[in-house]
Amino acid sequence: MVEGVDEGNCAVTNSTASLLVASGNAGLLARCVAVAIVGLIAVAVSPVLMSHGSVGWGVGVLGAGAVILIGPAVYALRRTICPQCRAPWLQYALGEKGAGEWLSWLTTFTECPQCRYTVDDAANSSPGRR
Ligand SMILES: [Zn+2]
Repeated sequence: MVEGVDEGNCAVTNSTASLLVASGNAGLLARCVAVAIVGLIAVAVSPVLMSHGSVGWGVGVLGAGAVILIGPAVYALRRTICPQCRAPWLQYALGEKGAGEWLSWLTTFTECPQCRYTVDDAANSSPGRR
């Protein structure tokens, strides 16, 4: 066999990742954020178009940007859930933790606030995740 077989991208790490990462929700959330940023840029650019006389374009870009911004946000809110009890973690974080803390809580929590599902449970229940 080849020596030094090291994928360099080991998904299973001990208690360094939050439950969000361990349960596979982080990738989904990251994709939603990436799309939402595109929407945010469109919304930010639209007034520039309008001020340059392209009102039709400006309104169109503003509308499209708003949809691209809100769509992933709603999707993330509904899909960032506990794999065991389906508690909506993102909604919980936003509702319970406040504006300054929800993001840090979401990226560091290791136990479902509702059913006590932990990072270890996630690691044991989804061994086939790549
Ligand atoms: Zn749970």
